[in-house]
Amino acid sequence: MERALYYETLSDQRVRCTLCPHYCSISQGQRGNCKVRMNRDGILFTDVDGKYSALNLDPIEKKPLYHFYPGSAILSLGTKGCNLRCTFCQNHEMSQAVPGEYPYMRLLSDEEILEMASESPNCIGLAYTYNEPTVFFESMISLARKVKQEGLQNVMVTNGYINSDPLDELLEYIDAFNIDLKAFRRGFYRKYTHSQLDPVLGTLKQVRKSGKHLEVTHLLIPELNSDAKVFEELVAWIAGELGSDTVFHLSRYFPAYLLLNEPTPLDLLYRFYDIAKEHLNYVYLGNVNTRFGSDTSCLHCGQTLVRRFDYRVEVTGLEKGRCTTCKNQIFVC
Ligand code: SF4
Repeated sequence: MERALYYETLSDQRVRCTLCPHYCSISQGQRGNCKVRMNRDGILFTDVDGKYSALNLDPIEKKPLYHFYPGSAILSLGTKGCNLRCTFCQNHEMSQAVPGEYPYMRLLSDEEILEMASESPNCIGLAYTYNEPTVFFESMISLARKVKQEGLQNVMVTNGYINSDPLDELLEYIDAFNIDLKAFRRGFYRKYTHSQLDPVLGTLKQVRKSGKHLEVTHLLIPELNSDAKVFEELVAWIAGELGSDTVFHLSRYFPAYLLLNEPTPLDLLYRFYDIAKEHLNYVYLGNVNTRFGSDTSCLHCGQTLVRRFDYRVEVTGLEKGRCTTCKNQIFVC
Protein backbone atom coordinates (compact mmCIF):
# COMPACT_ATOMS: atom_id res chain seq x y z
CA MET A 1 0.00 0.00 0.00
CA GLU A 2 1.22 3.49 -0.87
CA ARG A 3 0.50 6.62 1.12
CA ALA A 4 -2.31 8.55 -0.56
CA LEU A 5 -2.16 12.13 -1.79
CA TYR A 6 -4.86 14.70 -0.98
CA TYR A 7 -6.13 14.19 2.54
CA GLU A 8 -6.24 16.00 5.89
CA THR A 9 -5.81 14.54 9.36
CA LEU A 10 -8.66 14.98 11.85
CA SER A 11 -8.99 14.18 15.55
CA ASP A 12 -9.18 10.59 16.89
CA GLN A 13 -7.01 9.22 14.06
CA ARG A 14 -9.69 10.08 11.49
CA VAL A 15 -8.76 11.51 8.09
CA ARG A 16 -10.69 13.45 5.45
CA CYS A 17 -9.93 12.57 1.84
CA THR A 18 -9.93 15.69 -0.35
CA LEU A 19 -9.46 13.97 -3.70
CA CYS A 20 -13.10 14.04 -4.78
CA PRO A 21 -16.24 15.97 -3.79
CA HIS A 22 -17.38 13.21 -1.41
CA TYR A 23 -14.77 14.45 1.12
CA CYS A 24 -15.05 11.12 2.95
CA SER A 25 -14.31 11.33 6.66
CA ILE A 26 -12.66 7.96 7.35
CA SER A 27 -12.12 6.38 10.75
CA GLN A 28 -9.14 4.22 11.65
CA GLY A 29 -9.32 0.88 9.76
CA GLN A 30 -12.14 2.08 7.45
CA ARG A 31 -12.29 2.87 3.73
CA GLY A 32 -13.79 5.73 1.74
CA ASN A 33 -16.78 5.41 -0.60
CA CYS A 34 -14.51 4.28 -3.43
CA LYS A 35 -13.38 1.31 -1.26
CA VAL A 36 -9.74 1.63 -2.31
CA ARG A 37 -8.54 4.42 0.02
CA MET A 38 -8.04 3.28 3.58
CA ASN A 39 -7.17 4.84 6.94
CA ARG A 40 -4.39 3.00 8.74
CA ASP A 41 -3.37 4.55 12.05
CA GLY A 42 -4.40 8.03 10.96
CA ILE A 43 -2.69 7.87 7.56
CA LEU A 44 -4.60 7.51 4.29
CA PHE A 45 -3.34 4.78 1.96
CA THR A 46 -4.34 3.64 -1.50
CA ASP A 47 -4.44 -0.11 -2.04
CA VAL A 48 -4.48 0.04 -5.86
CA ASP A 49 -1.04 1.58 -6.34
CA GLY A 50 0.68 -0.16 -9.25
CA LYS A 51 -1.96 -2.95 -9.36
CA TYR A 52 -3.91 -3.25 -12.60
CA SER A 53 -7.04 -5.20 -13.43
CA ALA A 54 -6.91 -4.58 -17.18
CA LEU A 55 -4.28 -3.62 -19.72
CA ASN A 56 -5.17 -3.59 -23.42
CA LEU A 57 -4.04 -1.96 -26.62
CA ASP A 58 -7.29 -0.30 -27.78
CA PRO A 59 -8.24 1.86 -30.75
CA ILE A 60 -8.40 5.48 -29.56
CA GLU A 61 -11.98 5.53 -30.92
CA LYS A 62 -12.95 3.02 -28.21
CA LYS A 63 -12.32 5.52 -25.35
CA PRO A 64 -14.21 7.18 -27.16
CA LEU A 65 -12.04 9.97 -28.58
CA TYR A 66 -12.86 10.79 -32.21
CA HIS A 67 -10.91 14.04 -32.72
CA PHE A 68 -7.63 13.01 -31.09
CA TYR A 69 -5.11 11.09 -33.21
CA PRO A 70 -7.82 9.28 -35.25
CA GLY A 71 -6.87 5.75 -36.28
CA SER A 72 -4.21 5.38 -33.57
CA ALA A 73 -3.98 2.87 -30.72
CA ILE A 74 -3.52 3.55 -27.02
CA LEU A 75 -2.41 1.29 -24.18
CA SER A 76 -5.38 1.38 -21.81
CA LEU A 77 -5.27 0.44 -18.15
CA GLY A 78 -7.50 0.36 -15.11
CA THR A 79 -7.48 -0.85 -11.51
CA LYS A 80 -10.64 -1.29 -9.40
CA GLY A 81 -12.97 0.90 -7.36
CA CYS A 82 -15.04 3.97 -8.20
CA ASN A 83 -16.26 7.06 -6.36
CA LEU A 84 -19.71 6.74 -7.97
CA ARG A 85 -22.35 4.02 -7.58
CA CYS A 86 -24.08 4.05 -10.96
CA THR A 87 -26.88 1.50 -11.05
CA PHE A 88 -26.23 1.05 -14.80
CA CYS A 89 -22.42 0.64 -14.62
CA GLN A 90 -21.02 -1.32 -17.57
CA ASN A 91 -17.82 -2.25 -15.68
CA HIS A 92 -19.30 -3.01 -12.28
CA GLU A 93 -17.17 -6.13 -11.65
CA MET A 94 -14.08 -3.96 -11.30
CA SER A 95 -15.62 -0.60 -10.36
CA GLN A 96 -17.82 -1.87 -7.54
CA ALA A 97 -15.54 -4.64 -6.23
CA VAL A 98 -15.44 -4.82 -2.45
CA PRO A 99 -12.09 -5.43 -0.69
CA GLY A 100 -10.98 -9.00 -1.26
CA GLU A 101 -13.12 -9.28 -4.41
CA TYR A 102 -11.77 -9.07 -7.93
CA PRO A 103 -8.46 -10.88 -7.40
CA TYR A 104 -7.32 -10.46 -11.01
CA MET A 105 -4.90 -7.66 -10.20
CA ARG A 106 -1.47 -7.57 -11.80
CA LEU A 107 1.41 -5.76 -10.16
CA LEU A 108 3.31 -3.75 -12.79
CA SER A 109 5.99 -1.09 -12.50
CA ASP A 110 5.71 2.20 -14.40
CA GLU A 111 8.74 1.17 -16.43
CA GLU A 112 7.16 -2.13 -17.53
CA ILE A 113 4.02 -0.29 -18.67
CA LEU A 114 5.99 2.36 -20.54
CA GLU A 115 8.02 -0.31 -22.28
CA MET A 116 4.81 -2.02 -23.42
CA ALA A 117 3.48 1.30 -24.73
CA SER A 118 6.63 2.14 -26.66
CA GLU A 119 6.82 -1.37 -28.16
CA SER A 120 3.13 -1.54 -29.19
CA PRO A 121 2.42 -0.75 -32.85
CA ASN A 122 0.74 2.60 -33.61
CA CYS A 123 0.49 3.36 -29.86
CA ILE A 124 0.40 7.06 -28.92
CA GLY A 125 0.60 6.62 -25.13
CA LEU A 126 -1.52 5.63 -22.14
CA ALA A 127 -5.24 5.88 -21.38
CA TYR A 128 -6.43 5.77 -17.76
CA THR A 129 -9.84 4.16 -18.07
CA TYR A 130 -12.11 1.11 -17.40
CA ASN A 131 -12.74 2.07 -13.76
CA GLU A 132 -12.64 5.67 -12.52
CA PRO A 133 -9.00 6.87 -12.78
CA THR A 134 -9.48 9.45 -10.01
CA VAL A 135 -9.42 6.62 -7.45
CA PHE A 136 -5.97 5.53 -8.67
CA PHE A 137 -4.70 9.10 -8.78
CA GLU A 138 -1.26 8.26 -7.33
CA SER A 139 -0.44 5.64 -9.99
CA MET A 140 -1.90 7.80 -12.75
CA ILE A 141 0.10 10.93 -11.91
CA SER A 142 3.31 8.92 -11.56
CA LEU A 143 2.79 7.27 -14.96
CA ALA A 144 1.55 10.45 -16.64
CA ARG A 145 4.74 12.36 -15.74
CA LYS A 146 6.90 9.63 -17.27
CA VAL A 147 4.69 9.38 -20.36
CA LYS A 148 5.29 13.08 -21.07
CA GLN A 149 9.04 12.63 -20.55
CA GLU A 150 8.88 9.95 -23.28
CA GLY A 151 7.04 12.34 -25.63
CA LEU A 152 3.84 10.26 -25.57
CA GLN A 153 0.20 11.21 -24.89
CA ASN A 154 -1.96 10.81 -21.76
CA VAL A 155 -5.72 10.27 -21.94
CA MET A 156 -8.15 10.23 -19.00
CA VAL A 157 -11.63 8.74 -19.35
CA THR A 158 -13.51 9.96 -16.31
CA ASN A 159 -16.81 10.65 -14.60
CA GLY A 160 -15.45 14.13 -13.79
CA TYR A 161 -16.03 13.72 -10.05
CA ILE A 162 -12.74 15.15 -8.83
CA ASN A 163 -11.78 18.25 -6.85
CA SER A 164 -10.19 21.19 -8.60
CA ASP A 165 -6.72 21.02 -6.94
CA PRO A 166 -5.96 17.41 -7.94
CA LEU A 167 -7.45 18.14 -11.36
CA ASP A 168 -5.11 21.11 -11.72
CA GLU A 169 -2.19 18.80 -10.99
CA LEU A 170 -3.41 16.33 -13.63
CA LEU A 171 -3.89 19.07 -16.20
CA GLU A 172 -0.13 19.50 -16.35
CA TYR A 173 0.18 16.02 -17.87
CA ILE A 174 -3.12 14.81 -19.33
CA ASP A 175 -3.50 15.71 -23.01
CA ALA A 176 -7.07 14.61 -23.69
CA PHE A 177 -10.17 13.91 -21.61
CA ASN A 178 -13.38 12.09 -22.26
CA ILE A 179 -15.79 13.16 -19.51
CA ASP A 180 -19.08 11.41 -18.90
CA LEU A 181 -21.98 13.81 -18.37
CA LYS A 182 -24.64 11.36 -17.26
CA ALA A 183 -27.62 13.69 -16.95
CA PHE A 184 -28.57 17.32 -16.45
CA ARG A 185 -30.61 16.95 -13.28
CA ARG A 186 -29.25 16.95 -9.73
CA GLY A 187 -31.86 14.37 -8.72
CA PHE A 188 -30.55 11.91 -11.32
CA TYR A 189 -26.99 12.19 -10.03
CA ARG A 190 -28.17 11.76 -6.42
CA LYS A 191 -30.49 8.83 -7.08
CA TYR A 192 -28.66 6.80 -9.72
CA THR A 193 -24.98 7.61 -9.11
CA HIS A 194 -24.79 8.65 -5.42
CA SER A 195 -22.98 11.83 -6.37
CA GLN A 196 -23.72 15.40 -7.48
CA LEU A 197 -24.06 17.09 -10.84
CA ASP A 198 -22.46 20.48 -10.07
CA PRO A 199 -18.88 19.27 -9.46
CA VAL A 200 -18.98 17.43 -12.82
CA LEU A 201 -20.03 20.65 -14.58
CA GLY A 202 -17.18 22.40 -12.75
CA THR A 203 -14.69 19.81 -14.01
CA LEU A 204 -15.93 20.22 -17.59
CA LYS A 205 -15.41 23.99 -17.39
CA GLN A 206 -11.98 23.63 -15.76
CA VAL A 207 -10.79 21.23 -18.46
CA ARG A 208 -12.17 23.44 -21.24
CA LYS A 209 -10.44 26.49 -19.73
CA SER A 210 -7.13 24.60 -19.61
CA GLY A 211 -7.08 24.22 -23.40
CA LYS A 212 -6.63 20.43 -23.18
CA HIS A 213 -8.58 18.30 -25.65
CA LEU A 214 -12.08 17.50 -24.38
CA GLU A 215 -14.83 15.18 -25.59
CA VAL A 216 -18.07 14.49 -23.72
CA THR A 217 -20.07 11.25 -23.52
CA HIS A 218 -23.73 10.92 -22.58
CA LEU A 219 -25.52 7.57 -22.15
CA LEU A 220 -29.17 7.84 -23.14
CA ILE A 221 -31.26 5.64 -20.81
CA PRO A 222 -34.98 5.27 -21.57
CA GLU A 223 -37.16 6.71 -18.77
CA LEU A 224 -34.18 7.83 -16.67
CA ASN A 225 -32.70 10.67 -18.71
CA SER A 226 -34.82 10.60 -21.87
CA ASP A 227 -36.79 13.81 -21.36
CA ALA A 228 -36.17 15.72 -24.60
CA LYS A 229 -36.43 19.15 -22.94
CA VAL A 230 -33.85 18.31 -20.29
CA PHE A 231 -31.58 16.82 -22.94
CA GLU A 232 -31.87 20.02 -24.95
CA GLU A 233 -30.83 21.98 -21.83
CA LEU A 234 -27.80 19.68 -21.51
CA VAL A 235 -26.55 20.14 -25.07
CA ALA A 236 -27.31 23.88 -24.97
CA TRP A 237 -25.23 24.13 -21.76
CA ILE A 238 -22.33 22.36 -23.49
CA ALA A 239 -22.58 24.69 -26.48
CA GLY A 240 -22.76 27.79 -24.27
CA GLU A 241 -20.15 26.88 -21.64
CA LEU A 242 -17.76 24.60 -23.53
CA GLY A 243 -18.31 25.68 -27.13
CA SER A 244 -20.35 24.34 -30.02
CA ASP A 245 -17.26 22.53 -31.42
CA THR A 246 -17.16 20.27 -28.34
CA VAL A 247 -17.20 16.67 -29.54
CA PHE A 248 -20.28 14.89 -28.15
CA HIS A 249 -20.81 11.12 -28.03
CA LEU A 250 -24.42 10.02 -27.60
CA SER A 251 -24.38 6.38 -26.52
CA ARG A 252 -27.02 3.72 -26.61
CA TYR A 253 -27.79 2.11 -23.26
CA PHE A 254 -27.93 -1.68 -22.76
CA PRO A 255 -29.05 -3.36 -19.51
CA ALA A 256 -26.19 -3.71 -17.02
CA TYR A 257 -25.56 -4.24 -13.31
CA LEU A 258 -28.68 -3.24 -11.31
CA LEU A 259 -30.63 -1.54 -14.10
CA LEU A 260 -32.48 -3.85 -16.46
CA ASN A 261 -34.51 -1.39 -18.55
CA GLU A 262 -34.89 -2.18 -22.25
CA PRO A 263 -32.03 -0.96 -24.49
CA THR A 264 -32.45 2.54 -25.91
CA PRO A 265 -34.79 2.30 -28.94
CA LEU A 266 -32.98 3.41 -32.09
CA ASP A 267 -35.69 5.92 -33.05
CA LEU A 268 -35.24 7.65 -29.67
CA LEU A 269 -31.46 7.73 -30.16
CA TYR A 270 -31.84 9.28 -33.63
CA ARG A 271 -34.33 11.87 -32.33
CA PHE A 272 -31.89 12.93 -29.60
CA TYR A 273 -29.06 12.97 -32.15
CA ASP A 274 -31.06 15.53 -34.15
CA ILE A 275 -31.60 17.66 -31.01
CA ALA A 276 -27.88 17.57 -30.22
CA LYS A 277 -27.00 18.54 -33.80
CA GLU A 278 -29.07 21.71 -33.44
CA HIS A 279 -26.55 22.92 -30.83
CA LEU A 280 -23.29 21.08 -31.47
CA ASN A 281 -21.20 20.65 -34.60
CA TYR A 282 -19.70 17.23 -33.87
CA VAL A 283 -22.16 14.64 -32.59
CA TYR A 284 -21.48 10.90 -32.82
CA LEU A 285 -23.51 7.82 -31.92
CA GLY A 286 -22.00 5.14 -29.68
CA ASN A 287 -22.88 1.48 -28.97
CA VAL A 288 -24.64 1.15 -32.34
CA ASN A 289 -23.59 -0.77 -35.42
CA THR A 290 -24.34 1.82 -38.05
CA ARG A 291 -22.51 4.20 -40.36
CA PHE A 292 -24.97 6.94 -39.44
CA GLY A 293 -23.50 9.35 -36.88
CA SER A 294 -19.97 7.98 -37.10
CA ASP A 295 -18.07 9.83 -39.86
CA THR A 296 -16.53 13.31 -39.64
CA SER A 297 -16.96 15.87 -42.39
CA CYS A 298 -15.33 19.29 -42.60
CA LEU A 299 -17.73 21.96 -41.37
CA HIS A 300 -16.37 24.51 -43.82
CA CYS A 301 -16.13 22.62 -47.13
CA GLY A 302 -18.06 19.39 -46.45
CA GLN A 303 -15.24 17.00 -47.37
CA THR A 304 -15.37 13.64 -45.54
CA LEU A 305 -12.30 13.56 -43.29
CA VAL A 306 -12.64 10.33 -41.32
CA ARG A 307 -14.83 7.29 -41.97
CA ARG A 308 -15.52 4.95 -39.04
CA PHE A 309 -17.28 1.64 -38.72
CA ASP A 310 -17.03 -0.66 -35.71
CA TYR A 311 -13.60 0.75 -34.68
CA ARG A 312 -12.32 0.44 -38.25
CA VAL A 313 -11.08 3.89 -39.20
CA GLU A 314 -10.21 5.32 -42.57
CA VAL A 315 -8.60 8.76 -42.54
CA THR A 316 -9.50 10.19 -45.94
CA GLY A 317 -8.97 13.95 -45.99
CA LEU A 318 -6.75 14.96 -43.13
CA GLU A 319 -3.19 16.17 -42.74
CA LYS A 320 -1.78 17.16 -39.33
CA GLY A 321 -5.32 17.65 -38.03
CA ARG A 322 -6.38 19.91 -40.92
CA CYS A 323 -8.82 19.33 -43.75
CA THR A 324 -6.69 18.75 -46.86
CA THR A 325 -9.10 20.81 -49.00
CA CYS A 326 -9.76 23.99 -46.99
CA LYS A 327 -7.07 23.62 -44.24
CA ASN A 328 -9.64 23.97 -41.45
CA GLN A 329 -8.11 22.67 -38.16
CA ILE A 330 -10.45 20.07 -36.63
CA PHE A 331 -8.38 17.33 -35.00
CA VAL A 332 -5.52 17.06 -32.54
CA CYS A 333 -2.78 14.89 -34.06
S1 SF4 B 1 -11.58 9.50 -3.59
FE1 SF4 B 1 -12.61 7.87 -2.43
S2 SF4 B 1 -12.05 8.19 -0.29
FE2 SF4 B 1 -11.54 10.07 -1.41
S3 SF4 B 1 -13.32 11.39 -1.12
FE3 SF4 B 1 -13.61 10.30 -3.06
S4 SF4 B 1 -14.78 8.45 -2.55
FE4 SF4 B 1 -13.97 9.29 -0.62
